[in-house]
Amino acid sequence: MIVLKFGGTSLESVDSIKEVKEVITSKSGGRIVVVSAIGKTTNELQHMAELARAGDTQYISVYEQLHDQHAAIISSLLDISFHEKIEAIFKQLRRVCDGVFLLKELTKRSLDFILSAGELLSSNIIASYLKKEGEQVNLLDSRAFIKTDDSFGGAVVDFHTSNGLLKQALETSSEVTVMGGFISSAPNGESTTLGRGGSDYTASIVAAALDAEILEIWTDVDGLMTADPRMVKHAQVIDEITYEEAIELSHFGAKVLYSPSLKPCFEKDIPIRIKNTFNKQTEGTLVSSGTDDDQLVKGITSLQNVSLISLSGTGLLSIPKFTKDFFATLAQHNLGVEFITQSNAEHTITIGLASEDAECAYHVLTKNFESHIADGLIDPIGIERDLSILALVGKNMKNQVGVSGNMFHVLGRNGVSIKAISQGSSERNISAIVKKADLSKSLNVLHEAFFQYEVKRVNLFIVGVGNVGKAFLEQLRTQSFILREEHRISIKLTGVANSQKMTLDEEGISLDKWKDKLDAGDDFDPKRFQHKIIELNLRNSIFIDITAAKAIADLYPDFLQKSISVVTPNKIAATESFISYQNLKQTTRRYSSQFLIETNVCAGLPVLSTLSDVVRSGDHVHQIEAVLSGTLNFLFNEYDGSRNFVDVIKQAKEEGYTEPDPRMDLSCEDVKRKLLILIRESGYSFEMNEIALEAFMPSSCQNTTSMEEFYKQVEKQEDYFKELYQKSKENGTRLKVVAIFKDGKATVKLSEIRTEHPFYHLEGKDNIVLFFTDRYKEQPLVIKGAGAGAAVTASGIFADVLRLSQPES
Ligand code: ADP
Ligand code: ASP
Ligand code: MG
Repeated sequence: MIVLKFGGTSLESVDSIKEVKEVITSKSGGRIVVVSAIGKTTNELQHMAELARAGDTQYISVYEQLHDQHAAIISSLLDISFHEKIEAIFKQLRRVCDGVFLLKELTKRSLDFILSAGELLSSNIIASYLKKEGEQVNLLDSRAFIKTDDSFGGAVVDFHTSNGLLKQALETSSEVTVMGGFISSAPNGESTTLGRGGSDYTASIVAAALDAEILEIWTDVDGLMTADPRMVKHAQVIDEITYEEAIELSHFGAKVLYSPSLKPCFEKDIPIRIKNTFNKQTEGTLVSSGTDDDQLVKGITSLQNVSLISLSGTGLLSIPKFTKDFFATLAQHNLGVEFITQSNAEHTITIGLASEDAECAYHVLTKNFESHIADGLIDPIGIERDLSILALVGKNMKNQVGVSGNMFHVLGRNGVSIKAISQGSSERNISAIVKKADLSKSLNVLHEAFFQYEVKRVNLFIVGVGNVGKAFLEQLRTQSFILREEHRISIKLTGVANSQKMTLDEEGISLDKWKDKLDAGDDFDPKRFQHKIIELNLRNSIFIDITAAKAIADLYPDFLQKSISVVTPNKIAATESFISYQNLKQTTRRYSSQFLIETNVCAGLPVLSTLSDVVRSGDHVHQIEAVLSGTLNFLFNEYDGSRNFVDVIKQAKEEGYTEPDPRMDLSCEDVKRKLLILIRESGYSFEMNEIALEAFMPSSCQNTTSMEEFYKQVEKQEDYFKELYQKSKENGTRLKVVAIFKDGKATVKLSEIRTEHPFYHLEGKDNIVLFFTDRYKEQPLVIKGAGAGAAVTASGIFADVLRLSQPES
């Protein structure tokens, strides 16, 4: 004997009912078929009943819609336009609804009567259809076999009586028996129901009563999955799971199985297989008592609408009765508690309930403790709304330390604050309460962390698509396949903006078409762009600023506070006052975000990451000597008096070696900023105005108001530049702008470098940095290489993005 249960999702249409028939007829021997109501019929019946109670005549159109839907299925499947039994069920349903409408009263008892129509209809239709197709079919009214008490809406099964009745009727049956799930009857014969989703329960009760070989639950997904597939796109089918794990998963929201339904089969050790009606050949999920897999976390599950209720006050410490009363009140009103935590000092009890239950709990508790609240022994009852519970489930978690630590680390890094935590006494479940708005992000990020064979998704938001920005997007485009296939990282461009336009797409913007998408985007506004990014609330979000604009740098603190990391070559934020630099750093620590500015100094060269390793490993930097401007190095290497200095500047700008405004380079302002960052990242408190600058530009060139004027002035000063060059040539030296930090003092100046100095052979637009530290005393730590250019800067940004994208980061 086997039991097959088909849910509403498998009975939604004529075509799906045909699939159901395929499943049933592909098997032989005694088969008990338990069916739910067709599609969403139960929801519609409930809706209809509530309209009638509210005195809204719309209930009639809902009724007619349901009638027509069923009539259409019957006419297609059975080739008849009138089905006596079905019409009789509808007639009775209509009479009861008219009664509800007239009285404006809907009791749990009448609601159960109304809801039970769904399964009565579906079981009649399926049985008639199977008969028409030539099967020997026995149709049972489940209400005559599943007996319960009279707690309508979620009746308690009388197993003794039900098992006896089921055995008597079905034990020796060798044909197909069809019965409706979910419905049952009280001792006096009135219709009761087993709670929403209860057809699974009916099937399990029948399977256990008859010692079935197996219970197959046929639905519209490939099995029980590692997470709700509607919330987590990458959820995977679980091949095998124990009863206990499945109970935990379904208790906290895995809708595919109704939680109580597992118990009867569990007690009899009857295996349950969950399979997909629309994808029959897949194996599905086997729920049984013994699996010896070593998977740590089996699944992640959640309840979306939850509120926290808290009871606190000094009275709780001294008067134990309060705690007892608290729980007794909840039990009295039939309010299911999903989650309990108690603070160490027993000063506060916090419970989580489904939101509707919580509203009721709040009122009854406030009323119950009214006098103690008035005399100050108990604080007013607390309620916090718009929350969700999520839970990690797995039997092997108890053998492994650090699962909860990792869970909270992963959530924290994504800016999810946890309101409460509870570890089930079975240690098969760790649950946490988070804000409802953070649920989707939390589930996805945990899924990535605990099912690591899957690809980690990273979301990039970029402002600035000039030379460097374009080069970065191109590198990303060419690398994305390898990143995905070999490193399991999927980096998506989720938002992009320039000074004119902005566009965002949660699904990711094509790296081939980003430009068209951007051109068609909205007008750019930094604050609005930021607001949209924060509102999307996506996991692993990174903001990349490839501009030199202060308005963009001003956005960083808000991003960092939302745990969105920032990557940027823009030096403005890191070179403002030391206090604001420190504040940024503190924000990153507090909100588990990162501020990565490798490309602030020497483009893509790993200067700051090396410096950070040096400092973190306990070394001390005493002295820094560096050539930090690729632009200036290029100018003085190229310029030999044969063409005008201004033309060399123009060439550098065209080739992308300068700042957007080359005056930043020529005034040495840019070098000062880089030196300041090196000093600060070495651990010193330092300000921009403490750096002494020996400017080499004549003042007429420095104080210009436009680029044209600047170029004009430089041209006028050609003799001055020629003289600088000639003098150095005669001395056998080369000109370099050198940045030095020594004995707590910092200077930037144009120097003549002798042949024996390590800087002498610095070619093209190269940079060099020497760090003298405790450990690198005689021979400094040297980093040298290309220090300017779109491609190298872009690859430095890429390196920072990858640093943030590693699974362990
Ligand atoms: P049925 O009508 O077959 O009883 P349900 O709608 O009650 O179907 O349950 C199936 C649905 O449960 C799936 O379509 C899926 O969206 C949802 N679901 C939620 N969590 C899970 C999970 N962890 N695994 C599988 N399905 C899940
Ligand atoms: N039809 C009922 C419901 O929708 C029972 C079930 O589908 O399991 O809740
Ligand atoms: Mg269901």
